[in-house]
Amino acid sequence: DKEKRAAVLNRAEEWGVKFVRLQFTDIFGVLKNVAIPVDQLPKALNNELMFDGSSIEGFVRIEESDMYLRPDPDTFVVFPWRPHEGTVARLICDVYNPDGTPFAGCPRCALKKVTAEAAAMGYTMNAGPEAEFFLFHTDASGRPTLETHDRAGYFDLTPVDLGEDARRDMVLTLEQLGFEIEASHHEVAPGQHEIDFKYAEALTTADRIATFKFVVRTIAQRHGLHATFMPKPIYGINGSGMHVNISLSKDGRNAFYDPEDKLGLSQTAYQFIAGVMTHARALAAVTNPTVNSYKRLVPGYEAPVYIAWSPRNRSPLIRVPAKRGPSTRIEVRHPDPSCNPYLALAVLLKAGLDGIKKGLTPPPPTDKNIFAMTPAELQAEGIGVLPGSLDEALEALAADEVIKEALGPHIYERLTLAQKLECEQYRTRVHQWEIDQYLTKF
Ligand code: ADP
Ligand code: MG
Ligand code: MG
Ligand code: MG
Ligand code: MG
Repeated sequence: DKEKRAAVLNRAEEWGVKFVRLQFTDIFGVLKNVAIPVDQLPKALNNELMFDGSSIEGFVRIEESDMYLRPDPDTFVVFPWRPHEGTVARLICDVYNPDGTPFAGCPRCALKKVTAEAAAMGYTMNAGPEAEFFLFHTDASGRPTLETHDRAGYFDLTPVDLGEDARRDMVLTLEQLGFEIEASHHEVAPGQHEIDFKYAEALTTADRIATFKFVVRTIAQRHGLHATFMPKPIYGINGSGMHVNISLSKDGRNAFYDPEDKLGLSQTAYQFIAGVMTHARALAAVTNPTVNSYKRLVPGYEAPVYIAWSPRNRSPLIRVPAKRGPSTRIEVRHPDPSCNPYLALAVLLKAGLDGIKKGLTPPPPTDKNIFAMTPAELQAEGIGVLPGSLDEALEALAADEVIKEALGPHIYERLTLAQKLECEQYRTRVHQWEIDQYLTKF
């Protein structure tokens, strides 16, 4: 570890770094920054840097506000852009209490706790996200609009597409930051894009998702666009999801693969699937954490609504992509990019581990089109439904001790308190739909 710290100092000097951003996320997944001049870096790397946690939403009450940031030397990167003030680098940090224990409100620490539980069982989780986002124009005063750059549709021959240009720049920037980009493409909806990067161990992936969102927003802004990870910005067209591809490895091997099985899946894989399905409704409060998330989880837009799995079909909660051997994985399809990546991966892993610990068996896979099934057929096949609203998801979470344990009481209480407040504000507002529907009718 001493070596790693020395390496960070060397690289900072080599690259002429002037400022270092110490980054961490709050419980809502919002990236926070404390910028320090480079001469403070040795102190920061020795975990001697304190900050006032009371200023951060969802962190602590005023009387217990002193927190320490513990930078993870593995997360050191130099930003490829060069502002006038000088080169900037960043380090992602864990948040610690003054007594040297991990802070209960630190989402990164919560994920580490669940990955440690997996490690004790011999497992490492690999995760690869597929984050979708919209690029919208900004108006004359720089405020985001709901207008997309390619509103006219695919067939229009625009010589320069602002969105494609911005996305190319995002990919290049991410690569300069050490991401291995596997694919980047236009999505189904106008103005909607997806950039996929290679899977990695859960903590690394969570760090990358946080960085990814920040880079996408920053680069969009430089192109005069607004990037949003809001799950369903426009009614009537596809929303933005963040499928999470997951596999476990054990002793360096893919633990989801079993060539002897008729689907090529191991007991561990089946149990993991069963765990995710069992906890799916509670997971939603974390993987789909906003009021708006539930406007994406409706039939007709490629988003899952039913708690089922399938090796073929793209409509259920869990799909098992065809690749086997080291690429054997499951794709969990309900998460959306408004989630806190640390907490989302923590609860998904916790759910899967619970399936393994309890030796759960999933129901048989569903190869039919679930959306065409009647309620009676759904019930006969034991196919449940994801929550229809954030309120429903919060109720499911309140009743799920396993998922609550993954969050810990501190995060659970503060997160759900804020979410309930949002539900209440939303419930009591008068929406445009109501005006359109009732103003002249009554
Ligand atoms: P889709 O076919 O659903 O569009 P993509 O090709 O867009 O899927 O994304 C696949 C994601 O799955 C990538 O992030 C990739 O790195 C990841 N992935 C591939 N193999 C594994 C694995 N063994 N474990 C976890 N994730 C994986
Ligand atoms: Mg994809
Ligand atoms: Mg693909
Ligand atoms: Mg997609
Ligand atoms: Mg996918």
